[in-house]
Amino acid sequence: MDFTVSEKMKTIIEMMDEFVDKEIIPMEPEYLSRPFEDMLPAIEEKREMVRKMELWAPQHPKEYGGMGLDLMDFALVSESLGRSPLGHYIFGAHAPDAGNIEILHLYGTDEQKEKYLLPLVAGKIRSCFSMTEVDLPGSNPVMMDTTAVKDGDDYVINGHKWYTSSADGAKFAITMAETNSDAAPYLRASMLIVPTDTPGFNRVRNISVMGHEGSGWPSHSEILYQSCRIPQKNILGPEGHGFVIAQERLGPGRIHHCMRWIGICKRVFDLMCSRAKSRIIAPDRMLESKQIIQAWIAECAADIQAARLMILNTAWKIETLGGKEARQDVSMIKFFAANVLQKVVDRALQVHGGLGMTDDTVIAFYYRHERASRIYDGVDEAHKVSLARRILREYEGKQTR
Ligand SMILES: Cc1cc2nc3c(=O)[nH]c(=O)nc-3n(C[C@H](O)[C@H](O)[C@H](O)COP(=O)(O)OP(=O)(O)OC[C@H]3O[C@@H](n4cnc5c(N)ncnc54)[C@H](O)[C@@H]3O)c2cc1C
Repeated sequence: MDFTVSEKMKTIIEMMDEFVDKEIIPMEPEYLSRPFEDMLPAIEEKREMVRKMELWAPQHPKEYGGMGLDLMDFALVSESLGRSPLGHYIFGAHAPDAGNIEILHLYGTDEQKEKYLLPLVAGKIRSCFSMTEVDLPGSNPVMMDTTAVKDGDDYVINGHKWYTSSADGAKFAITMAETNSDAAPYLRASMLIVPTDTPGFNRVRNISVMGHEGSGWPSHSEILYQSCRIPQKNILGPEGHGFVIAQERLGPGRIHHCMRWIGICKRVFDLMCSRAKSRIIAPDRMLESKQIIQAWIAECAADIQAARLMILNTAWKIETLGGKEARQDVSMIKFFAANVLQKVVDRALQVHGGLGMTDDTVIAFYYRHERASRIYDGVDEAHKVSLARRILREYEGKQTR
């Protein structure tokens, strides 16, 4: 495998790093203390700067106004932008829109692309992805109560979802609902485009997550679908192919998330090292002189490097051998990188002492919000079980000595 970074990508990453440092990190105190909507004018200003620099929507095709980067190059971009909670949003590379854009590219009809994809890539509207249900396990999504029943030219949707991230202010949801209840479990559900102003799309609340309800893009909603009627032409891809499409979305999506986490690790690692060097701990000693802190720094550096190389290796495998060949690696990086993230953020917080608990640095924000990395896009345990099963299959009937 070859991880050489091209000269073009080196320049792009340098430009992005500089933009994150100079233009985005200074916005964080406001982001951590004010409603998201209040920041929209300032965010739009920065987005305009990004567009002028021709760095907008890095992973989307050029013909749609993006940069057209491949998975390996976007992994590097995701690492750079992950250094601030607003990085991906300001560059038009944020979840859940990025994933929905991928699905619309692959399965959208011309009409759907015109109506939903183009304004989404342009950053004029937002969207959300509505799969997880309140009463059934998200880790086993084929157990689904939400139904979409044909009636005339329409589907009528009923169900109770939650954790529909960014639904507050979104123009449409991509909703998973059962359309083919007699089919095999993985062929029962379809993806449907549901405009959020459709009668019966009822956003009940923004859920309070780790003490924050949030609003707008950084929020997670509970949604009640009550006789929510949409035209049948709003289906994405073939009927019953919801899980097939979801599977396609998850592989590259996990690379994006995992490299974003490496960006977070690097940011809090920088803060940890700077604090260790600058915090006086005794009249003649700085914190950096303590061996336990030195050990944490060394361990975190090794963990970050290991996770980063595993993720890049997985991105390379997906690109060269295809998503199917990389399934084990994708499971491995998902839980490994999430746990590295949690450990590094925790150590950085500890090194900051009481300051780490405040919102005077970004560490506490990451500590609260990135705990979820071990839950969304597949809980740790499910990935471990599935990885172990695949590994053990290779030992069937094998004699080892
Ligand atoms: C911040 C955040 C954002 C999210 N955004 C979205 C979104 O935009 N759209 C959306 O549809 N969903 C979203 N989700 C939901 C997420 O996908 C689910 O929470 C996740 O799939 C787990 O489902 P669950 O919460 O129902 O947990 P459950 O399925 O009830 O699992 C609970 C626990 O059981 C254990 N467990 C589960 N399966 C296994 C197994 N196979 N082996 C061993 N132990 C197991 C694990 O410890 C797990 O944590 C989001 C969640 C969070 C926290």
